[in-house]
Amino acid sequence: MSHLTTETFDSNARAALVDTQLRGALRNATSLFGKRRLAAARGLENWEDLRTQARAIKDDVLLHLDRYLEEFVSNAEQRGAKVHWARDASEANQIVCDLARQQGVRNVVKSKSMVTEEIHLNDALQASGMEVIETDLGEYIIQLAGEAPSHIIVPAIHKTKGQIAELFTAKLGIEPTDDVDKLTSVARNVLRQRFANADLGISGVNFAVAETGTILILENEGNVRLTTSLPKVHIALMGIEKILPRFVDLDVFLKLLPRSGTGQQLTTYQSLITGTKRRPEDEGPEQLHIVLLDNGRSRMLAHPTTRQALACIRCGACLNACPVYQQIGGHAYGSVYPGPIGAVITPQLIGLGKASQLPYASSLCGACREVCPVKIDIPELLLHLRAEITDRKQEQEQAGGRRQEQAGGRRQEQEAGGSFKKRTGERFAFRLFAAVMTRPRTYEFSVKVGRLLQRSIVRRGKIGRVGGMLAQLAPPLGAWTNARDMRPIAESTFREQWRAGLRDDTDPGSDT
Ligand code: SF4
Repeated sequence: MSHLTTETFDSNARAALVDTQLRGALRNATSLFGKRRLAAARGLENWEDLRTQARAIKDDVLLHLDRYLEEFVSNAEQRGAKVHWARDASEANQIVCDLARQQGVRNVVKSKSMVTEEIHLNDALQASGMEVIETDLGEYIIQLAGEAPSHIIVPAIHKTKGQIAELFTAKLGIEPTDDVDKLTSVARNVLRQRFANADLGISGVNFAVAETGTILILENEGNVRLTTSLPKVHIALMGIEKILPRFVDLDVFLKLLPRSGTGQQLTTYQSLITGTKRRPEDEGPEQLHIVLLDNGRSRMLAHPTTRQALACIRCGACLNACPVYQQIGGHAYGSVYPGPIGAVITPQLIGLGKASQLPYASSLCGACREVCPVKIDIPELLLHLRAEITDRKQEQEQAGGRRQEQAGGRRQEQEAGGSFKKRTGERFAFRLFAAVMTRPRTYEFSVKVGRLLQRSIVRRGKIGRVGGMLAQLAPPLGAWTNARDMRPIAESTFREQWRAGLRDDTDPGSDT
């Protein structure tokens, strides 16, 4: 499924919906993480205060990002790190590949990092002749399977134990087993050997502290410790938004992130790295390079509405809570960032034209906003992006119309970064809806007509499957009643009852 793209989201989602194994794995994992998150959050009395504090810290960072970045770079370099700036994915890949070549690197070990997935770093390193191995167990599994991660913190969330066992048998030649301890032990043995031979360790960054130049990486398996301390060179990649002003701010985020992500009070390992090792006998790499990646983040920062998406700490809670993600999983989104936050940031990273379906992958129920530890208003952002998509469609159609007049009939809908689907029927439907809803008399008339027309399809007080095929709404509205019944229009509406005397019965003034 790794070849799925953002542009085919509709068909990706339909395919995922009929994959019962996938849906079972997702249901088990997302509901488990949801329950654990709730229990962990309830365990802290000041949970809501922490969320508010976290958001205030992030808002301050985003308003003064230039200042905090400069402070971070200065402090990190004073302690021996070398900081590199990358405008986009290709610059970041170039920096990492050049550094690796200069050091004569052949074997690379990597810890889990969404930003390296975002820029497709493994492909770039492999194209430069290096062997790269993922050392997080989930990432290792999907690397063996040739897939992309399907969740921000649980990359192999879509795989069942049985599927992983089959994969290990096929790729590592082990005897078939679904004993989790045995499978883990096999992976550990393979990875230990890779650590011993690695010349370069690559990691992401969860938080970077401006005040001290420290980077913090969280994990549960110990592989980050090995990745960042055994090889002689460590390269850490991070989005520019990962900065926190003060060391003490970590206290807030270390309480929120593990609880929101996995329901843990604290992740098993917190690797705090400040510069390179001080003395030859100390542990750790001889060189530490930190790559600061923009890749569209400055654009998001510039807009007061989209800016808040940069407060995301990649905990994955919104994915677990989202009724859309729970059904289709991460691959359907065609992006390394799936789920509600992925539907917000992917279009901003790769262009609205290429990801115009993603902001519609939401029922706007608000579950994502409820669970987000940094109080990102994801539904607001989705609506903002939908409005932008509609505006751009209109601009394109107007421009296309003008070209059509000039070129005698040929129409082009391309824009930089992709094309938008023309939805004439949808636009007509919404115009009709707006025309009816903004005219009370038209609305009342249409209710009466609807009540008459529905007579043939109402069965036992419902429209839908309860009455068999004849009770379905006509296409395309029939899709609505394929999976649920709909209540018919009432025999008399509130307005009709009001006019018929309800007013007299309920008016408090009528008793006096
Ligand atoms: S948007 Fe909020 S809930 Fe979703 S991953 Fe980011 S921080 Fe977590």
